[in-house]
Amino acid sequence: MLTDAELLRYSRQILLPGWDIAAQERVRAARVLIVGLGGLGCPAAQTLAAAGVGTLVLCDFDIVELSNLQRQCLHHEADIGRLKVDSAADKLAAINPLVTLLREPHPVDADLLARWLPEVDLVLDCCDNFATRDEVARLCWQARIPLVSAAALGWDGQLAVYDARAAGTACYRCVFPAADEDAPACADAGVMASTVAVMGSWQAQEALKLLAGVGEPLRGQLLLWQGSNNSVRRVRTSQDPACPVCGNQGVISA
Ligand SMILES: [Zn+2]
Repeated sequence: MLTDAELLRYSRQILLPGWDIAAQERVRAARVLIVGLGGLGCPAAQTLAAAGVGTLVLCDFDIVELSNLQRQCLHHEADIGRLKVDSAADKLAAINPLVTLLREPHPVDADLLARWLPEVDLVLDCCDNFATRDEVARLCWQARIPLVSAAALGWDGQLAVYDARAAGTACYRCVFPAADEDAPACADAGVMASTVAVMGSWQAQEALKLLAGVGEPLRGQLLLWQGSNNSVRRVRTSQDPACPVCGNQGVISA
């Protein structure tokens, strides 16, 4: 049962068609693991905390640096030198003290995911490199935990939901079979503050739909946003029968 204070706090979304008290209770009961508290993770976590997701598991081993502050909205000047998970948890608790915040200041690897995937309902991939994204996606798929994945670079971003429970849909490896060795990183090519804010918010939107069971999550599709002219393209993704992660050949372990 939601308390009177919760009914008031979340009243603007409980008013929405399709989102009712039961949906809010499902979100309150949910546990979400967030990989990375950087440009994407900050706005995503901020929205999920404000919207009333019950438990957020914050994973990041980085410390806050001056060059983060342009876009990582939970980290303030005074946080430079602190762990990002501590900085983020302080701000999220101030936004909504009803949210349980768990901190994992460790690299997101197979061990960490083996511990947490059985405990969570959803994962948000807000990391900044292909290797982690690919590993997180593979392990989520194998554990049948839905994954909201996003990436941002320059003015542009992309977004997708990978959900092994949705029969016939593509996994991350089907869509991105290999690392693009030439792809630049944010540290080299730059990234707009507004771009990560948009993409992180979009991740939160997909997460809330999945957790509450309302709306149409972006499964089986890849959304490509070009921020410089604000154009959005959605492409259908298809499962690769030879995919080593989700194909019929069996499941690889690495
Ligand atoms: Zn696949």
